[in-house]
Amino acid sequence: SINRHDKEKGVNVQVLVRCRPLSEDEIRVHTPVVISCNEGRREVAAIQSIANKQIDRTFAFDKVFGPASEQKELYDQAVSPIVNEVLEGYNCTIFAYGQTGTGKTYTMEGGARKKNGEFPSDAGVIPRAVKQIFDILEAQVAEYSMKVTFLELYNEEITDLLALEESTKFIDDKTKKPIALMEDGKGGVFVRGLEEEIVCTANEIYKILEKGSAKRRTAETLLNKQSSRSHSIFSITIHIKECTPEGEEMIKCGKLNLVDLAGSENISRSGAREGRAREAGEINKSLLTLGRVINALVEHSGHIPYRDSKLTRLLRDSLGGKTKTCIIATISPSIHCLEETLSTLDYAHRAK
Ligand code: ADP
Ligand code: MG
Repeated sequence: SINRHDKEKGVNVQVLVRCRPLSEDEIRVHTPVVISCNEGRREVAAIQSIANKQIDRTFAFDKVFGPASEQKELYDQAVSPIVNEVLEGYNCTIFAYGQTGTGKTYTMEGGARKKNGEFPSDAGVIPRAVKQIFDILEAQVAEYSMKVTFLELYNEEITDLLALEESTKFIDDKTKKPIALMEDGKGGVFVRGLEEEIVCTANEIYKILEKGSAKRRTAETLLNKQSSRSHSIFSITIHIKECTPEGEEMIKCGKLNLVDLAGSENISRSGAREGRAREAGEINKSLLTLGRVINALVEHSGHIPYRDSKLTRLLRDSLGGKTKTCIIATISPSIHCLEETLSTLDYAHRAK
């Protein structure tokens, strides 16, 4: 976090909340709003009073973005400083966490690029981060290289969203060849056979992102997956060659992970249902473990349970230690989502 107090503790987890506006349909049926955001005080209040029941809870976060906040605002205030850290050699992760339909994908990806390749004003965190990275690198004299990976975690299994050939085959045959997560013997992990695309321009990354997202949707339909149950991880690794004042050559390496998490309702409603119990339980496992890992980091617990889920194993080199983490908790203002909203706010608040 940019917070001085946190820096002293050596913890670098920043938690912010974004509340989406009511949709047109919600406005048409006069859906009551039960959330109020105070951006200045960095507080979110949930207020509802029905005859015999009163809910009135206020939560404070590092930053709060109300329903009128725009993509650029959130990016400039919360994400841009983190991208600068990546270019300084930090591993950083940005998570979107929240109930399905509250704006995780809107926040991370946002509107599609226009036909003429122009940048839309509703572009999300990922395209903006890519643009910032290239703008900065291209203005420097230093040599650099960059590679990206894009994968999906569904039911604790990894699918490579960049391996396009393989995917067609795998969908036709209906035989899934899971990609294995291997220990590298140095406390890290790597994903065997994962495509790493070397990229040289921002446009190349945008195309990769579009292809990967399209593949995610195709696989979803063909295999009856539900996107609300999968996590997607888009990672950019940057190597920058620098010279010290003494003329020594140095390579600075930073990594940015952009994670669109499974719907948080999968935590509360999983498990009990037959048939989907195992599947739901597994998603539960990654989301729950992520919460535990972040709590353990924030509380300086001796044991950080990275190993308990694939998500936390995958992100291990970017959580804890010399890293920065930002959690964007997305919520709906609607009365109908109140229960899930409260559990999202609780989860996010515990990560602080
Ligand atoms: P999630 O990925 O969490 O399931 P989505 O990103 O798909 O949710 O958002 C659900 C719907 O709400 C989409 O139609 C999206 O465009 C819209 N939406 C979400 N957040 C915002 C926002 N901040 N401003 C405007 N529309 C939004
Ligand atoms: Mg989504």
